[in-house]
Amino acid sequence: MISLEEARSIVAARAPGPPAAVEVALAECLGLTLAEEVASDLDLPPFDASAMDGYAVRAQDVSVAPAALRVVGESRAGKPFSGRLLAGTAVSIMTGAALPEGADAVVMVERTQRDGDFVRVLDTARKGENLRRRGEDLREGEVVLRPGTPIRPQEMGVLAAVGRARVRALPRPRVAILSTGDELVPPDLRPGPGQIRESNSFSLLGQALRAEAQPLRLGVARDDRAEIRARIEEGLRADLLLLTGGVSVGAYDFVAEALGALGVERHFHGVSMKPGRPVWFGTRGETAVFGLPGNPVSAFVGFEVLARVAIEKRQGRAPRDPFHHGRFGGGRVKKNPRLQLVPAVTSCSPGGGSEVRALEWSSSGDLIELARANALLSVPPETVPEEGAVVRFLEI
Ligand code: AMP
Ligand code: MG
Repeated sequence: MISLEEARSIVAARAPGPPAAVEVALAECLGLTLAEEVASDLDLPPFDASAMDGYAVRAQDVSVAPAALRVVGESRAGKPFSGRLLAGTAVSIMTGAALPEGADAVVMVERTQRDGDFVRVLDTARKGENLRRRGEDLREGEVVLRPGTPIRPQEMGVLAAVGRARVRALPRPRVAILSTGDELVPPDLRPGPGQIRESNSFSLLGQALRAEAQPLRLGVARDDRAEIRARIEEGLRADLLLLTGGVSVGAYDFVAEALGALGVERHFHGVSMKPGRPVWFGTRGETAVFGLPGNPVSAFVGFEVLARVAIEKRQGRAPRDPFHHGRFGGGRVKKNPRLQLVPAVTSCSPGGGSEVRALEWSSSGDLIELARANALLSVPPETVPEEGAVVRFLEI
């Protein structure tokens, strides 16, 4: 059976790359990947502006302090002073307002005393003091964002500042989510004998949203060959299809067979990890398909360590290693021949860096313990970490 590392590189190689870019309104582009080079259409700041509330002056007029200057007007944000500053005068100015012609410094209001038409400046000022110069942050025509950049709130602000009300970006990958199992009932029903509530499609929905994809729950397919096939066919219209349940070797596990019959090319079935061993991965055309195990923790982990790779590739993101390093802070871990991903709690350790404590974890069905975790501790095959040893973990 292949290792998780091999499985991740197979997904990275075989999952479809980004589709054609689309034009998106700025307000809708959070979490998308920028698909064009963005240059500024003006200098930023666009004019010499005051960085303080105070008085615009000529530095030479206040080379000796205190100095008394006649206040000849006001420059406020959006309403510049129209005249020119002459020797011996000052203009009252607000933060962000344009520096009047002739002025070359701003003295902060806290270091002045106003007396009718005059202001007493208490300190000397140097040329350029408390100013933000035109073009100091960015020059007109300068490239500020490059294709492949994930659009975060900060990038949204920059796009607005450089005049981009619309941008070309990669669309959000559509992720169809299909649960399979005769025993599953929706959350608003009380399970009858032998039934359980269907939870995977909701945690996967949350994970897909967090991954900045566009999820679509397709509901539950019964353990029936024809029904599973029909529902998979529907899901294959998406960029990614996530199935849960029915991928093991039980008598009613029809998912792998149905995927094969529908022409989905299998790239692996089974990864040497715990939980999540029976995971299935294949592609058909522009769609990546993951058959995740039904156990809630297995499905969750399968998404984090494998499906995410395909989502990020579709988003045009550079491949990244999602694991961090920290120190093992204890908790019971049993040796296993497979790589284990154990629900864990990570916190900042007093000595700096992260500490990772393994949670007591009963089975791959233990969704409740997963909700107490904020990390998955990676435990290599046939090892048990010693307290204080460097370990790898993933934040969840
Ligand atoms: P399976 O992979 O179909 O053999 O299912 C493994 C275990 O996960 C069984 O106990 C199922 O009842 C449970 N299970 C399967 N699908 C779901 C689901 N969508 N939500 C919650 N539990 C599930
Ligand atoms: Mg099942």
